Amino acid sequence: MLDFLPDKVHDESRQGEAFAPFVNDAQQYRRRFYIESYGCQMNFSDSEIVASILSEQGFGATRDYREADLVLINTCSIREKAEQTVRKRLTEFKTLKQNRPGVLVGVLGCMAERLKTKFLEEEQLVDIVVGPDAYRSLPALVGAAETGQRAVNVLLSRDETYADISPVRLDSNGVTAFVSIMRGCNNMCSFCVVPFTRGRERSRDAASIVNECRQLFESGFREVTLLGQNVDSYYYIQPQPPLAPPTGKNSAQPSPGGHPEKNSSPSTSEVSEWDSSPLAESRMGAAVTFAKLLELVAQISCDLRVRFSTSHPKDITDDVLHTMNKYENICRYIHLPVQSGSTRVLQLMNRTYTREWYKAKVDRIRDVIPDCGISSDLIAGFCTETEEDHEDTLDIMRYSNYDMSYMFMYSERPGTLAQRRYADDVPEEIKKRRLTEIVGLQNRLSLESNQKDLGKTFRVLIEGDSKRSSADWMGRNTQNKVIVFPKDGYNFKKGDYANVKVNDCTQATLLGHIE
Ligand code: SAM
Ligand code: SF4
Repeated sequence: MLDFLPDKVHDESRQGEAFAPFVNDAQQYRRRFYIESYGCQMNFSDSEIVASILSEQGFGATRDYREADLVLINTCSIREKAEQTVRKRLTEFKTLKQNRPGVLVGVLGCMAERLKTKFLEEEQLVDIVVGPDAYRSLPALVGAAETGQRAVNVLLSRDETYADISPVRLDSNGVTAFVSIMRGCNNMCSFCVVPFTRGRERSRDAASIVNECRQLFESGFREVTLLGQNVDSYYYIQPQPPLAPPTGKNSAQPSPGGHPEKNSSPSTSEVSEWDSSPLAESRMGAAVTFAKLLELVAQISCDLRVRFSTSHPKDITDDVLHTMNKYENICRYIHLPVQSGSTRVLQLMNRTYTREWYKAKVDRIRDVIPDCGISSDLIAGFCTETEEDHEDTLDIMRYSNYDMSYMFMYSERPGTLAQRRYADDVPEEIKKRRLTEIVGLQNRLSLESNQKDLGKTFRVLIEGDSKRSSADWMGRNTQNKVIVFPKDGYNFKKGDYANVKVNDCTQATLLGHIE
């Protein structure tokens, strides 16, 4: 009944996923596209925007690239290995082009942005290259490529958020959805290529986010994850007209145990007034912080779970923690990447916090939300990392008691600050050994964390059948832990909430019974 990979270094389960959002009626669309996505959740979310843009142009999707007129690959540049995977995949499309010369192949996303026209030169089979801020131009680029022209648009934008585009949900379970709330990143961590491939940070119109979440809820979805590289720096000045008021009947109420807030976010009544009163209408430019956005989304319905990712430790505020506490439906889970436990390495990484500061942030989260799940990202073998620095990383993992982590070996990326300033001087075998130690420790921490849940009962949102058996459901608790439990003849369906008592576990999965 294992639903999660043990010894997980990085969640590879969706890499290269192909999508088929539309009905299989070949007559319905003039042309067909195939899209395959790699990398972070943001890329998967972007593919849903691309699908929407293409479907407006009469393109239907197919799961089989051999029958597509347009083959797209949405790429990731975060590590060298991610780029190698894409290159390898492209060679597989070569035969397709040989057999059907009219087929167009397009490269989207971070790798397109990083390599630009080089792609057309290096990969002879590529016809279209589109960066993450240029997807609106895709139909025009397809037109240009059809007439044999070079079709490249890698312009980064200061304001593109695709706010007005309704993403077409791709290969969705119909229960959980990702909603992009911002794009780009201003942080310039020295190891990271994202600020170069995704441009400056910009926040999406708050009203469009709330509306998208509301529509998802109304069409049966029960969980939204608000996505951004650094969600806590979300900030939007909402122009008039103001947001629609939350739907009365379904509006979530603050949990009975909710705290009064220190840096007070607006209360429910203040938000309603901000939304709809004549006073609010005359008040130009109401500011929406991330805490406020969370609150607005949580108010859509108490049956809609709200998650978010990723939080930069320097930016997550007390306001956000108290808002989480105030609403039962904001999940008790924070992804708080530490990257390294050594202050010296953190400084080289330009993470802008020290080891002590990070630990104090973990303490604060546990003070305000004692049952909060915390996960992390960790990099083994960053430039100049010593054994002592590595020990500091293991130590901060133990201190933070992560429920889960994404763990990586440092991979030097062209153009980053680290590549320009520091030597990638930790030998490969040492990086590997340190990563193995990090993974080993995380496996132990995850198992211990799961063992603490034995005998507890959780409210679980059912996402579908367990991977192993259609006799079992798979869902998650508020802490984002996967729970597998037998259907046991109860009348539950996907998207329902069930109370599940945990009676067993592995390091990756809780196992239980409906209570
Ligand atoms: N914005 C998020 C943050 O700050 O935590 C996540 C960004 S990135 C898409 C996801 C993770 O990839 C990072 O947290 C980091 O651990 C890892 N990563 C980024 N660049 C890397 C590199 N050059 N080598 C290894 N891992 C890297
Ligand atoms: Fe990259 Fe740092 Fe921005 Fe995350 S916060 S995307 S790691 S630069």
